[in-house]
Amino acid sequence: MWSFRDWRRKRILARLAIEPALWQRALDSLPILDGLSQAETERLRERSLLFLHAKRLTALPGVELQLTDRLRLAAQAQLPLLHLADLDWYQGFHEIVIYPDDFHSPQKHRDSAGVVHEWDGEHSGEAWLQGPVILAWPGVRESGSWEGYNLVIHELAHKLDMLNGDANGLPPLHSSMRLEDWATAMQSAYDALNATLDADPEAHTEIDPYAAETPAEFFAVTSEYFFSAPDLLHRTYPKVYKQLQAFYRQDPFTRLQGLQKSHPDYAEPH
Ligand SMILES: [Zn+2]
Repeated sequence: MWSFRDWRRKRILARLAIEPALWQRALDSLPILDGLSQAETERLRERSLLFLHAKRLTALPGVELQLTDRLRLAAQAQLPLLHLADLDWYQGFHEIVIYPDDFHSPQKHRDSAGVVHEWDGEHSGEAWLQGPVILAWPGVRESGSWEGYNLVIHELAHKLDMLNGDANGLPPLHSSMRLEDWATAMQSAYDALNATLDADPEAHTEIDPYAAETPAEFFAVTSEYFFSAPDLLHRTYPKVYKQLQAFYRQDPFTRLQGLQKSHPDYAEPH
């Protein structure tokens, strides 16, 4: 059946054609994409190009964005959506602003809607309800490997969380999922992490203690681990892993295990 949406999409993709070697270079620089099937990689390429077409990437002075950088960013933004229906999951924002460094002291940015955002403190990323996503360049550059850190996925997880209102750690679940299972898995892991830190604020925790700040941060941080240290998340909070697996409809833990089996020195298990 002919659809305007498909037709428009094909036209955009034809216009955006990029050198295969350039896309390959972006892929090769992102270990967290290793082990995806050819069909998945192709879908990721198309969706990354459409993402770059739909969102404005603004680099503030001090950041030079090459096309490969844009592709790397888009591919990481699209990885969490790879097995979700082709809906506009990143609706409600149009701009990603890249800061040259973590933001210190008062910061000001006028977004494309003319809204001026000001804030204090040191952050490497921000996602505003109905506003732009702000990323610090060093964090973007450090994202992409199996290190349990991914600023791009973290901030965009906040955007998924905000699809049904304020960020509260509950994104819109699929009808096949049970709210009760999600809430129980997330709450008990969040409570356990907070109990550990209440007992000893300096305690070593398996995941970044920042996850204990709010349920929204817990969802964003565990999403980060789900895609960049799935073995660690699976071992530490298996029920959280299972809920994220149901939500993202992916199993990066199995994908990573496959890579480690076929290449014994692939990546150190966490
Ligand atoms: Zn956050």
